[in-house]
Amino acid sequence: MDSKNLGFLTRQVHAGGSKDALGSAIVPIYQTSTFKFKNADHGAACFSGEEDGYIYTRIANPTIDALERAVANLEKGYRGIATSSGMAAITTAYLTFLGQGKHIVSHNALYGPARGVMESVFSRFGVKYTYVDTTDLESVKKAITPETAMIYTETPANPTIGISDLKKLADIAHGIGVPLVVDNTFCSPYLQRPIELGADIVIHSMTKFINGHADVVAGMIVTSNKEYYDMMKPVMVNMGCNMDPHQAYLVHRGLKTLGIRIDRAQESAVKIAEYLENHPKVEWVKYPGLKSHPQYELAQQQMDGPGTMISFELKGGLDSGKRLMDNVKLILLAVSLGGVESLIQHPASMTHSKISHDKKIEAGITDGLVRLAVGIENVEDIINDINQALEKV
Ligand SMILES: *Cc1c(COP(=O)(O)O)cnc(C)c1O
Repeated sequence: MDSKNLGFLTRQVHAGGSKDALGSAIVPIYQTSTFKFKNADHGAACFSGEEDGYIYTRIANPTIDALERAVANLEKGYRGIATSSGMAAITTAYLTFLGQGKHIVSHNALYGPARGVMESVFSRFGVKYTYVDTTDLESVKKAITPETAMIYTETPANPTIGISDLKKLADIAHGIGVPLVVDNTFCSPYLQRPIELGADIVIHSMTKFINGHADVVAGMIVTSNKEYYDMMKPVMVNMGCNMDPHQAYLVHRGLKTLGIRIDRAQESAVKIAEYLENHPKVEWVKYPGLKSHPQYELAQQQMDGPGTMISFELKGGLDSGKRLMDNVKLILLAVSLGGVESLIQHPASMTHSKISHDKKIEAGITDGLVRLAVGIENVEDIINDINQALEKV
């Protein structure tokens, strides 16, 4: 069966499937740290790479391999590298391509710690960075220096929901011979496949949509080719950013319903975004499915749907935002996203609190910005909850 010709929902169920001798229907949890060699020659052959045998779980494990194959298949990439968290995937990318004197051009509206670790840790090792709005291609070009070794973006961006043009960013990166790295967490491969658009490396926090049940922290890297895979895999292994087999099993279980969960939540998100846009207490709404989104046309071309993440600004700024969050009853006041339950949070005081006020404003993270991650509950119940909370604002 050539899985390349099968649809997404079929591949999310079957890709990376079990091949064990007992014929297990799902991939078993190989909860082992190490693997027995048949004899000294076999051990030597595994280490030299002549044979693909398993050696040690930090390097590779069958349960983790199956998940890596499945996500790489869905992303249309060469191969996956599973990591302990999304941040481990991001730092593995930084550690592979950056070093003393090297420079990264990155998005100014980024997952908070992806920027925080650059400014607080990588800077100590001589890495240089420039944060620009990657939705504006001219500012990306202007930020490039002879030392630039990576262009990094997130689209839709966290928490501003700005959409960056991946095809054009890939052209810019390839023009200077460096990889384009894309954090695809907000879409998952169901809604966007950056490698098909020219990106070289895709990053996931699988904590979000891919696992989908708010019970595991996990990450994944997918590379477009063998060369990047061979560069990144040893960095992950030697820095000890590996996943655990039990974690891999849970994420793989969640992955099998990815598309249907997103379809369900996305249908609701469209209705909720329209409801918010018409609410008198809401200043503006950012959602790729609304014609008012500044990159609406681009979203239509590069994404297979507008997703489930909505940002909106309440009239009255910070105080209004806090009142809304203190009064929701069904929606959880919590960071994270991509789970079955709806979550609401306030980026300025929560996920992006470590970034200075000026830098936040420059990146569009205003004091009254609220981020809503829509879950799979009945849409009427979610709207009624927002509605009753907005009455108290
Ligand atoms: C959550 C998140 C991360 C970090 O992932 P962890 O699994 O929490 O380490 C990175 N990027 C985006 C866009 C995220 O939402």
